[in-house]
Amino acid sequence: MRYISTRGAAPELGFEEAMLTALARDGGLYVPAEVPQLSAEEIAALAGRAYEEIAFRVMRPFIGEAFSDAELEGAIARAYAGFGHAARAPVKQIGANHFLLELFHGPTLAFKDFAMQLIGQLFQLALSRRGERVTIVGATSGDTGSAAIEAFRGLDAVDVFILFPEGRVSEVQRRQMTTPDDGNVHAIAVKGDFDDCQALVKAMFNDHAFRDRVHLAGVNSINWARVLAQVVYYFASATALGAPHRPVSFTVPTGNFGDIYAGHIARRMGLEVERLVIATNQNDILHRTLATGAHVKEGVRPSISPSMDIQVSSNFERALFEALGGEGRAVAQLMAELAEQGGFTLPQGALEWLRAHFASGRASEEETLDTIARVFRTTGEVICPHTAVGVKVAEEHLGRAPMVTLATAHPAKFPDAVERATGLRPPLPKRMADLYDRPERVTVIANDLAAIEKLIEERRAR
Ligand SMILES: *Cc1c(COP(=O)(O)O)cnc(C)c1O
Repeated sequence: MRYISTRGAAPELGFEEAMLTALARDGGLYVPAEVPQLSAEEIAALAGRAYEEIAFRVMRPFIGEAFSDAELEGAIARAYAGFGHAARAPVKQIGANHFLLELFHGPTLAFKDFAMQLIGQLFQLALSRRGERVTIVGATSGDTGSAAIEAFRGLDAVDVFILFPEGRVSEVQRRQMTTPDDGNVHAIAVKGDFDDCQALVKAMFNDHAFRDRVHLAGVNSINWARVLAQVVYYFASATALGAPHRPVSFTVPTGNFGDIYAGHIARRMGLEVERLVIATNQNDILHRTLATGAHVKEGVRPSISPSMDIQVSSNFERALFEALGGEGRAVAQLMAELAEQGGFTLPQGALEWLRAHFASGRASEEETLDTIARVFRTTGEVICPHTAVGVKVAEEHLGRAPMVTLATAHPAKFPDAVERATGLRPPLPKRMADLYDRPERVTVIANDLAAIEKLIEERRAR
């Protein structure tokens, strides 16, 4: 299996190299040169299987020679063993033809655990085989960081540095990053917003001398291996609801476009998806793009669904690559316009491609709170604000197929918003009840590339 860059000017890589490298050297993202297909019979055979078995069958063809069957099976088993639900990703009905896919039973209570726990296991296998050590640097709007820390803490082949916007993550999110006491974990609060953090990480990857010196590796949502791990639960939930004998629709609370792009890959593999709906909060660049064809940055407006507070959606480049017919140079051109002029206008053909493959909607802050309250009143389910954005937008796109809204985080991760909407403060699951009592460890730093690079060089183990 070969992976190519969305900007067409970086070497092709195998799965393992694409996973360890994350961002291509031409600034692009790796995508599979071809998408493997699952036949209707193969999809039907997934129904009723354990999550781990579905994961193996869905991911195996993308991994090629990088890992043996036994290695992959072992990694999957270890990745999901710590989840707090036997189904891993249970489906729950909330309306006549509307379902929640609960993706928050992992160690940090958000869907990012699905990809991160697996990637931790795969990194460990690959690095110990190579006798190498890497420095993982990631930017987070909240949930990626804690998921990465939980996945890599204590591994001796890895140092993990997580940049988060100071004061812009919830207290639970911050504590999940600052309380692990492992020596290889470094939480860094940047004086800036999430896009600043993401830009710093990109700049470090583009500083090739630094990148090589510290053996930089990325696990942000641009990492192909993360996208791949997320493809699995689309198949798991769809087959639970009748695929391949009937189509299913999905609505995905979207920020960096990683999760919904995984749904698109599931569709390209052969899953029949009636609608794939992008749900944004008030930071609605993707909804505006589909509505108008203009992809234009606005400043980030902090919201009650902070994990979706972005103005640049990094995985959108992968969809753009397909929308532009696989023309890496055209992608590079538009991304340069985005960087230099703050936006670009999609060519008509690309806009039509996007509209044919995705629908979209947005939820305001008030609509998000109203949805949390209404879902609680009508079903008894307590949902997090990200999930509420999804539910609100999903209700605007109900059709014949069952609608699955991805429930991306546990409500206890965002207790203030949930309490405002319902009057109830959702409790943390028992296994993390002492989170508020553990001591925190964090370094606050300016939004300054040189300063952060220096800190990383000093702190990493050698
Ligand atoms: C990361 C995250 C999202 C957005 O997912 P993307 O893959 O970045 O689009 C939505 N909800 C929650 C709770 C998240 O942590």
